[in-house]
Amino acid sequence: MKSPFEIKKEICEVGHKLWLKGFVAANDGNISVKLNENEYYCTPTGVSKGSLTPDMIIKVDKNGKKLEGKLNPSSEIKMHMRVYAERPDVTAVVHAHPPVSTAFTVADIDLDQYILPEAVLTIGDVPTCDYGTPSTMEIPDSLDPYIQNHDAFLLRNHGALTVGCDLTKAFFVMEEVEFNAVICKHAMELGAVHEIPNHQLKKLMDLRKKMNLPGRHPGIDYEEDNNVVTADKDNLVDTITKKVLEALNK
Ligand SMILES: [Zn+2]
Repeated sequence: MKSPFEIKKEICEVGHKLWLKGFVAANDGNISVKLNENEYYCTPTGVSKGSLTPDMIIKVDKNGKKLEGKLNPSSEIKMHMRVYAERPDVTAVVHAHPPVSTAFTVADIDLDQYILPEAVLTIGDVPTCDYGTPSTMEIPDSLDPYIQNHDAFLLRNHGALTVGCDLTKAFFVMEEVEFNAVICKHAMELGAVHEIPNHQLKKLMDLRKKMNLPGRHPGIDYEEDNNVVTADKDNLVDTITKKVLEALNK
C-alpha cells in the first residue's frame, strides 16, 4: 500500500505531466485521489499544475470540505465528488483543458469516431456534456446522463474529465482522449475520416472482454454503417460535381 506522501507525490507528477503536455494553462485543471469513503486528496486552487509540490496537496471529505492542508481546494472539486458518489469503482479523477479535444466541443463536433484501436478498446466514444458554469452544480449535473457508462467526458466549451480505478489509469484516459482528437483533427484536415470497419470493431470489443480491461465502456453499435463518417463537405461536393460533369461529357 502506498504511503500518504507517495500518493501526494504521484498527484504532483500527474500535475506536472498535464502542464508539460499543454493540457492546462495558468492554474487550470485539478486532480483528486480517493483514500477511503470520507477522505480524498486533491490539488489546491490557484497553483499551476507545473509547480505542485506534495506539501500543497489538500485532504477533503466527501463533500469537498477541507480536512487538512495550508491551501484551499479547487472550486471544481464538486464534479470530482459527484463522480466518487456515483461510481464506487473510481479512485482517481483528472480534470484538464486539453486543447484539441476541447476545440471539438467548441466546434460542436462529437468525438465519436472509431479511428484508433487503442482508443476503441479503452474509451469508446466520448460524450460531450452540456455547458455549465465552473464552480456551480451545473457541471456535476451535466455528467449525470453519461457517468455510469463512460470513463471520459468532454465538458462543452471548457475541457475534459477522466476517471479511473487508479490515478495512472485516469491520466492515461486523458492522454488517450486528446491523442484521439489530435489524430481525428489531422484526418479531417487531410480530407476524410475513415473509421475502423464494423467487423474489426467487433473483434476489438471481443478482445476488450478477453483482456478483462478495467473501467466502464459505452460499447459499440455494430449495426450502423460507419465506413466513412466524415468527409470534408466541400471535397464531397467537388467530387460529386466532377462525377456529374464526367457523366454529362460522356
Ligand atoms: Zn476546468
